[in-house]
Amino acid sequence: MPRFFIPAADVSGDTAALRGTEFRHLQRVLRLREGDEVTLFDDDGREHAGIVLSLSPRVAHVRITATHVPARESALAITLYQGVPKGRKLDLVVEKATELGVRRIAPVVSRHVVARGSRVDRWRRIAASAAEQCGRTRVPSVDAPVDLGALVRGIWPPLRILAWEGERAVSLDSLPATAGAAIAVVGPEGGFAPDEVEAARDAGFATVALAPRILRAETAAIVTATLCLHRWGDVGRLSSPDQVR
Ligand code: SAH
Repeated sequence: MPRFFIPAADVSGDTAALRGTEFRHLQRVLRLREGDEVTLFDDDGREHAGIVLSLSPRVAHVRITATHVPARESALAITLYQGVPKGRKLDLVVEKATELGVRRIAPVVSRHVVARGSRVDRWRRIAASAAEQCGRTRVPSVDAPVDLGALVRGIWPPLRILAWEGERAVSLDSLPATAGAAIAVVGPEGGFAPDEVEAARDAGFATVALAPRILRAETAAIVTATLCLHRWGDVGRLSSPDQVR
């Protein structure tokens, strides 16, 4: 079933309007017609079953037949910072982090980052289409790249994690058993410089070992998100029943 994200403001009564890229996707890529069934989700966390009512040159109207509030978002609000890797590797991280339930994704520039240029619009599109595909009811936000020094000095929830390949004593298991929010930082291919690790520790980040092996940057990001959402979120768990609205 094709799934589209729409602003809640575009739902009025039992009718919804699809515009812009979602409209083009519906009409030009999927070639849907009047009478076809679709699923919509909005930024109020609602999911709507509907039928295409009409297509005009710029907007599709959908008649809503049922609305639910699915429980598919993790209670753990996790922000994942990733040292910008080379090439298109962050595309993979954004897609997988979205499927896993990461709330916010942000590229970070640290000493050993060699990648140039930011593709934040592209990453946002990837997050939106991964959210549509995997059944999420919220599209994760994707920030513009920030500097690691400024990032660690920011205001963050108490659970602050920096995945560090040099850590030998601390694993995720040794961190508190409950948390509602977390920030996790993963390095680029070149890892973190020692003074970057020190600055993060001074700012209250726990340096954490992921495995007794060195993971590639993109693997480390996906593993960090998985482990955090398993320990403090809903990965590896069954969902609670949907609410009907
Ligand atoms: N070039 C570095 C490795 C960097 S791996 C070296 O050879 O030492 C890229 C990033 O993935 C690291 O900065 C870290 O954040 C994360 N990472 C990889 N393996 C890890 C591990 N075993 N424990 C914790 N973090 C790890």
